[in-house]
Amino acid sequence: MTAKSRGGARTNGRPGTSLDGRDIPAVFPGGLMSQTQIYLLDTYRGEITTRILSSGKEGARPWIALEDNIFHPQGGGQPSDRGWIGTIPVVAQRLPTIADLVLVTAADDTAQTALAHLTEGTTVTATIDLPQRLANAALHTAGHLINATAGRRGLTYAGCNHFPGQARVEFQPSGPVDSAAIQRDIESAIRDLIADDRPVHASASGDGPRTLVIDGLCEDSCAGTHVARLGLLSDFQIRSVKVKGDRVRVGYDVAHAGLVA
Ligand SMILES: [Zn+2]
Repeated sequence: MTAKSRGGARTNGRPGTSLDGRDIPAVFPGGLMSQTQIYLLDTYRGEITTRILSSGKEGARPWIALEDNIFHPQGGGQPSDRGWIGTIPVVAQRLPTIADLVLVTAADDTAQTALAHLTEGTTVTATIDLPQRLANAALHTAGHLINATAGRRGLTYAGCNHFPGQARVEFQPSGPVDSAAIQRDIESAIRDLIADDRPVHASASGDGPRTLVIDGLCEDSCAGTHVARLGLLSDFQIRSVKVKGDRVRVGYDVAHAGLVA
């Protein structure tokens, strides 16, 4: 599963820029401190035993970076993963000053002291809150479906938010907006796609950025986490279609099959 993490430049999975303009991290960034981004390879990997690649502080807050990282950091509208290092509650984070690494920081003040004792080279077991991860992956994947189906109806992507309870994709319309028709059309099209149970692939190809492919529907540059197949999306619904200024806001809800909402 894991590649050698330290040293040696790699040529695959180079960073790129996503549809919404955020940087896409490399799966295997080169340089002196290479971190394998397991979360980009396997949405369903909830636990790993690995070594601490690096540790430090940002102000008073300690952080560590894992050699084999399973934590998704907030970006592209998707929230950060939460989880544990051993029993220490943590949350993923990126810092502009350490752009190549996904860090984990203490989830609360009490955990800061425990995390500060962990040093480079120590072997730890990292666990993510897998139900939260899968809920976020379902919301994020459905965002791709909304973007692809709306694009076929004259709407141009303008932004997104995949947080639970407030998930939405925003568009710039090319003409008059019929909110009811948009809601009906998009919801119907996506229900059909889910029923088709199409596979969802995410991979880096050659030297290009990571690409999300849903067969016959879309190919998007993306650094989020996705469900394995569209049939794993459940309880999908368009919550609302609203016009706000020059934007159309498509709100939606979805869950990952097998999880209690
Ligand atoms: Zn994505």
